[in-house]
Amino acid sequence: MLNIHNLQTSVEGKEILKGINLQVNAGEIHAIMGPNGSGKSTLASVLAGKESYEVTGGEVLFDGKDLLDMAPEDRAREGLFLAFQYPVEIPGVSNINFLKTAIGEIRAYKGLDPLSSKDFLKLLKDKQELVELKASLVNRSLNEGFSGGEKKRNEILQLAMLEPKLAILDETDSGLDIDALRIVANGVNKLRSENNAFVVITHYQRLLDYIVPDFVHILYDGRIIKSGTKELAFELEEKGYDWVKDELSAQA
Ligand code: ADP
Ligand code: MG
Ligand code: MG
Repeated sequence: MLNIHNLQTSVEGKEILKGINLQVNAGEIHAIMGPNGSGKSTLASVLAGKESYEVTGGEVLFDGKDLLDMAPEDRAREGLFLAFQYPVEIPGVSNINFLKTAIGEIRAYKGLDPLSSKDFLKLLKDKQELVELKASLVNRSLNEGFSGGEKKRNEILQLAMLEPKLAILDETDSGLDIDALRIVANGVNKLRSENNAFVVITHYQRLLDYIVPDFVHILYDGRIIKSGTKELAFELEEKGYDWVKDELSAQA
């Protein structure tokens, strides 16, 4: 589904990603862990097509198509979803209208008829229950005045509504209390299927108690320096990132 080959990226002339290789297949959950400043959010932003990131090398294929060649909105229409580390507030756009527009665009892109209002509301109600989001939030402006936990839940609602092929969650767990964490994780677990995939970026092992990844990658200084299964996350939690650094310098 996603094939990242030797991806190199600079921000304001500074090299941040120094050759990322990663393959994600349908049905898989990958966790990317790493210390602050290692390039996790940069990777997510480049995949989503955020401006100000200059790709200086490598390629990314999404379902065989050149992802980096697509406009950000086409990436979303092709089924890529990014939950940002810091969700934006959009005053004046209600959550419900945002979802309606987004779903309309995705359906149109796929050549499907728009959902009727009745079907849309039914879908919304089902998904809202799934992610245990209060009905009142849905009618408010997008993310405006939402608590940190509410924003994250709301992103999971967007995820549930849009049903992307590939969802990238950038530190969706940061700032969440344990209940919100569980709701977010339950949402992901209910949404995962053989046809979709998730890349979960996290600083802590805690989230992975709830979302069990098939693979764990350690991103350090712009490179994936180690990959493994979920045991690698436990090892990291126990030994810290210094352990990886030490191992790396021992190899050098
Ligand atoms: P992480 O998410 O792993 O904490 P980031 O991808 O946010 O790391 O940042 C990686 C490096 O890139 C850091 O040194 C950060 O300061 C730098 N960086 C990221 N985005 C920008 C930007 N828009 N402008 C300047 N530097 C940036
Ligand atoms: Mg960070
Ligand atoms: Mg980050």
